[in-house]
Amino acid sequence: MLAIGIDAAEPSLVRRLIDRRELPFLGALLAQGRYGRVLSAAHIGSGAVWPTFLTGSSPFLHGICSIWPWRPETMGASRVTCNALVPFWKAVAMRGHAVGVLDVPFAPPVGLRTGIEITNWGAHDWLEGRTEVSPPALRVLVRDGSGLHPFASGAVDAAGPHDCEGLARVRSLCLAGVRQRGALAARMLAEVPLDLLLVVFTEVHRASHLLWHTIDPTHLAHLREGAGASPAVTGGLLDIYREVDQQVGRLLEAVGSDTTVLVFSLHGMRAHEGIPTILDPLLRSLGLASVKRWEALSWPARARQVFRAVKQRIPPSLKRLYYRLVSRSLMVRIAQPTLMPAYDWSRTIAFPLPTDQHGWIRLNLVGREAQGILDPGEYQAVCSNLEGVLRGLRATDGSRVVRDVLRIARETGGSPPQHLPDLIIHWDDAASASPLRLRTPIISARPIGTKFTGQHAPEGFFILRPGPGARGVINPGGSIAAEDLHQILLGTLEGG
Ligand SMILES: [Zn+2]
Repeated sequence: MLAIGIDAAEPSLVRRLIDRRELPFLGALLAQGRYGRVLSAAHIGSGAVWPTFLTGSSPFLHGICSIWPWRPETMGASRVTCNALVPFWKAVAMRGHAVGVLDVPFAPPVGLRTGIEITNWGAHDWLEGRTEVSPPALRVLVRDGSGLHPFASGAVDAAGPHDCEGLARVRSLCLAGVRQRGALAARMLAEVPLDLLLVVFTEVHRASHLLWHTIDPTHLAHLREGAGASPAVTGGLLDIYREVDQQVGRLLEAVGSDTTVLVFSLHGMRAHEGIPTILDPLLRSLGLASVKRWEALSWPARARQVFRAVKQRIPPSLKRLYYRLVSRSLMVRIAQPTLMPAYDWSRTIAFPLPTDQHGWIRLNLVGREAQGILDPGEYQAVCSNLEGVLRGLRATDGSRVVRDVLRIARETGGSPPQHLPDLIIHWDDAASASPLRLRTPIISARPIGTKFTGQHAPEGFFILRPGPGARGVINPGGSIAAEDLHQILLGTLEGG
């Protein structure tokens, strides 16, 4: 069984490229198999999709939706740790199957004794710790076979659509990463006897966030920067999809035609103009959040606030330099203390959490937050009022700002979530206006993250070429939930 994840590959783009015969190996696979939609947890947050897949459980159970989760015990956000997650392949290996795993995002090492497991080698979201190989005797496979992945050796990033030099570098390093990953996976197949190989290409994810405008003629950055960019930039994202297809072809040849093959993504990608930051001024103007006065801040907290303000005003030329020179571990350390304003918890009932996409609001609940002030008896009423306010938000030109509001407690049957946000806001396109000006209350805010021209879309896809014994849990409509995707792998392994 061969399972290949293409992280954040957009289903509509994959289909379009297959129809144009630009992805010959995926096209041939589709001709022998079937196609379907993957319904993922992306509506909760992009950080939820891989934990959902690898544990086979919903975000309400595993509690992860962000790489900067909120810690109620310390009243702060810090880098995610995934060591408590138990990937489904641990049980598969314990039942005697030889499993190979290469770089499943958010997957902790489980210490496989047979097969091979490589974690944190070329991850898009770098987690704490180094590349781990298990069993350790197989480290030589990584060291001599493919070496350091570009994502591990430095920041593969750009300052935005205007940074043509940075984007051309992102393209070439992502292409190199795809080739190295294909070579490493092929070596795993050649040198380790395996019943299942699960490999995830992470490079499409990185490239899609930064290069999406190059394939979307309606994107503002496409209109502004597209015409003047070099071919290396304008064709960059498609080159990376084509290279992944070539590497898929290489692995298909290595496993032969009687192997069951699953190619999938858990979420997709679409155009994006920036992450709205209106929640902080909104909650403050509603009297639900307060920040500490400058005099009340400790000196380290003052330094963090100054640093936060400076970081938001760095000129583009310096940003370009920053993304080229700063290591990814330093980038993580710099990001951490500047994620949130210094809220005065004694006067804050609701506050926004750091996010890369949706709006996330957490309530300062007594008994759950270390410095909670909201009585649990008022929880539902505050959620309802907030939902009403959010759904009614209009920009000064009358356009709708919020498309939908999810209340996690309602989804899970009443009790407030332990780790997830209490409210999840799906923004309308108008929310990314720079600046976004609200009609009432009269406040405005500029979006952040405008260097990213691609943002996650909620659906993924799968192509399944069944071999003997493949059983599935695919719905009659051809869709499958991300938490059930591994059942296809189990059905094949245990039925075949
Ligand atoms: Zn992403």
